[in-house]
Amino acid sequence: MKMVRNEPLKKHTSFRIGGPAEYFCAPTNIDELREALKFARENRLPVAILGMGTNLLALDNGFRGLVIKLGGGLNKVTVRGRVIHAGAGTLLPVLLNIAARRGLAGLEFLAGIPGTVGGAAAMNAGAWDGEIGRYVDRVRALDKNGDLKEIKKPGLRFGYRRSVLQKGKLIAAEVVLKLRKGSPGRIRKKILGFLEKRKLNQPLGSPNAGSIFKNPKGKFAGKLLEEAGFKGARVGDAQVSVKHANFILNLGEAKARDVIKLMTRMRGAVKRKFKVTLEPELKIMVQSIS
Ligand SMILES: Cc1cc2nc3c(=O)[nH]c(=O)nc-3n(C[C@H](O)[C@H](O)[C@H](O)COP(=O)(O)OP(=O)(O)OC[C@H]3O[C@@H](n4cnc5c(N)ncnc54)[C@H](O)[C@@H]3O)c2cc1C
Repeated sequence: MKMVRNEPLKKHTSFRIGGPAEYFCAPTNIDELREALKFARENRLPVAILGMGTNLLALDNGFRGLVIKLGGGLNKVTVRGRVIHAGAGTLLPVLLNIAARRGLAGLEFLAGIPGTVGGAAAMNAGAWDGEIGRYVDRVRALDKNGDLKEIKKPGLRFGYRRSVLQKGKLIAAEVVLKLRKGSPGRIRKKILGFLEKRKLNQPLGSPNAGSIFKNPKGKFAGKLLEEAGFKGARVGDAQVSVKHANFILNLGEAKARDVIKLMTRMRGAVKRKFKVTLEPELKIMVQSIS
């Protein structure tokens, strides 16, 4: 496995933002992932995990340590009856396609969400009242010593865009999903319906990282931000979408510091106007496996 020095993280995040990773590698199987963790231990390097970087803000000065990218590698998928074993680096559209072809229903709400199965499990990704955590039976994960653990659903502690995998102690290597039997035609129709709905509601085109803030209980972050006047607000090349006020777009040369400044303004204004504290959904790459 190749260990790259000073790899620009902007190449690996959907925001197209981020300075260099001191060390960077992309393991393709569990043994290589273990090897990467060993390299980090031996060199006392902090470790950050990246799927496809679709929910991540990498900082302008990058990451001092080792960034391990799982997206694209670790992508073996096997299907046994209603159970799918998906490598953590499997892309969500690939997973959906396999599920549809095999007549396995439940995950259609994920249509249009980019990223990996591991990232989706870590984030408990969801939309339209669905969350991936509902369908996850267990996860096989490595700790920083490279020891493989199997964590069953209750231990994963799924909540709204939350799971134990965010704590920085475990790296998901394989996600096991239990689905329902369904008709391939009906599953595909549902997927197309969700994709259409998404086209109407979400900005397409400029690089972004999906929703910036979580929805507060009983409210929509996008609506609060729209009412606070943020559609089109801009810091440098970071601009709040005019279509959806909970999206920030990179118009070209946006820096992480522009995004953070804009987020701070958005949060402050909503707090002052509505007495509501917005919690970021976007992860900032400062945490490391400990
Ligand atoms: C246009 C757009 C639309 C989106 N719409 C939605 C939506 O509707 N609903 C939704 O929930 N999200 C949405 N997202 C956000 C994002 O796509 C999801 O959160 C996705 O599941 C993240 O996957 P990823 O592989 O890109 O993770 P990354 O962004 O690479 O990582 C996210 C977090 O998970 C951790 N992580 C990643 N892989 C692992 C692993 N194997 N083990 C442990 N931790 C890991 C990372 O360290 C990081 O903290 C959207 C994003 C975009 C750009």
